[in-house]
Amino acid sequence: MTKPLENRLALVTGASRGIGAHTALALAGAGAHVILTARTEGGLSEVEEKIHQAGGTATIAPLDLMNGEHIDQLAQHIANRWGKLDILVLNAGQLGPLSPLSHIPPKDWEKVIGVNLTAPYRLIRGFDALLRQSDKGRVIGISSGAATDPRAYWGPYAASKAGLEALLDSYAEEVANITNVRVAVVNPGGTRTAMRKSAFPSEDPESLKGPDVVAQALLNLLVEDFETKRRLSLPKKV
Ligand code: NAP
Repeated sequence: MTKPLENRLALVTGASRGIGAHTALALAGAGAHVILTARTEGGLSEVEEKIHQAGGTATIAPLDLMNGEHIDQLAQHIANRWGKLDILVLNAGQLGPLSPLSHIPPKDWEKVIGVNLTAPYRLIRGFDALLRQSDKGRVIGISSGAATDPRAYWGPYAASKAGLEALLDSYAEEVANITNVRVAVVNPGGTRTAMRKSAFPSEDPESLKGPDVVAQALLNLLVEDFETKRRLSLPKKV
């Protein structure tokens, strides 16, 4: 039986753990060849192994998203080997310190903005031509409720996610009507991952949905397809 993402090539950032790892597993399970990227090679290899055990295919590409030239090199490798990209999941994220803005060291500000906002710009810049080569290029950005509901002490993270949404809407408008590329923004809501644990250390993890639930929602979005500039917000529990 043909799988819904057969012959599709997907790139998932932040695929070494959490939502990104589960998304990579879900997309590969649906037949896509998935390129997994993050800094931690061991985490990427574990996810790749699980994909292979389930009968899927994947390629790992260890990369620090703070390095824009490495993003360009990855795009060049993918252009040389596959000549297109069908699905780009902009998932990697940094929470940064939860503190008053006047206490945030510039290096932490730069890391949060670098991973959550500048890297998605570099990825769009690097992969736009390859997404246009697909008959159905799809970009999904993983945002947060903090983008539209900023709160005290979450300044860098909230600003980066608001910026990410504006970036993705701008890109969606640029490519609408003249290409087959469509863009969606997903707010996963509270999800049982390392990032959530560091934001809310005293919370009972069992009160949250698992990252597999978010991955399934992303897969459904891709399989059912979506209008560009689609917004999807998931509740904490599903
Ligand atoms: P997580 O478990 O901390 O995973 C974050 C991922 O980003 C990891 O794979 C990490 O890989 C990667 N990453 C971080 N810095 C990187 C860098 N410099 N270069 C390359 N990769 C980097 O977090 P998560 O909860 O799954 O979060 C996934 C997305 O969902 C994020 O965008 C987050 O903002 C969003 N989100 C999460 C929640 C939640 O409740 N969990 C709620 C709202 C939004 P390495 O460390 O191996 O590089």
